[in-house]
Amino acid sequence: MKKEYAVIGLGRFGGSICKELNREGMEVLAIDLDEDKVNEYKDIASHAVIADSTDEKVLKELGIRNIDHVIVAIGDNIQASILTTLMLKELGIMKITVKAQNDYHEKVLNKIGADQVVHPERDMGKRIAHSIISNNVLDY
Ligand code: ATP
Repeated sequence: MKKEYAVIGLGRFGGSICKELNREGMEVLAIDLDEDKVNEYKDIASHAVIADSTDEKVLKELGIRNIDHVIVAIGDNIQASILTTLMLKELGIMKITVKAQNDYHEKVLNKIGADQVVHPERDMGKRIAHSIISNNVLDY
C-alpha cells in the first residue's frame, strides 16, 4: 500500500518537502494556520487544510492517525513545534520528522521521541562545506 504523508507548516522548508513528495507521486496532506499558504498548496498537495496543529481535537478530526509519516516544519514557534510533536507521538504516528530551530529545540525533540530531527541550515552548511573541500581537492 502507498505511504501517506502529512506536512505541518508550509514555509520554505515544509513547502519544498510538500512539492517534492507530490512530484514523486506521493499522497500529501498539507496543513498550515495561514489561509494564503494553504491556498498556495491546494493544487500541489492531495489535501490542503487550514488548521492549528497544536489542537489535538483538530489533529484527530483530520485523521492524522492514518498517516504513515508526518513532517513538522514549524520554525519560529518552538512551543507549537514541541507540542505538535508530543501530540503526534501520543496519537501513535509511526514516523515523525521535525525541523529544529536550535540545539535546545533539537534536544527536546529527541527527548520526546521525534524519529528524525533535522536542522536544514546547519546540515546544508555542513554538506556544502564538504563539497567545497572536495571540489578544491579536485581543482589542485
Ligand atoms: P522556513 O524557514 O521553512 O520558511 P520558518 O522556519 O521561518 O520557515 P515559520 O515561517 O515560523 O518557519 O513557520 C512555517 C509555517 O508554519 C508558517 O507558514 C506558519 O504559518 C506555520 N505554522 C506555525 N504554527 C503553526 C501551527 N500551530 N499549526 C499549523 N501551522 C503552523
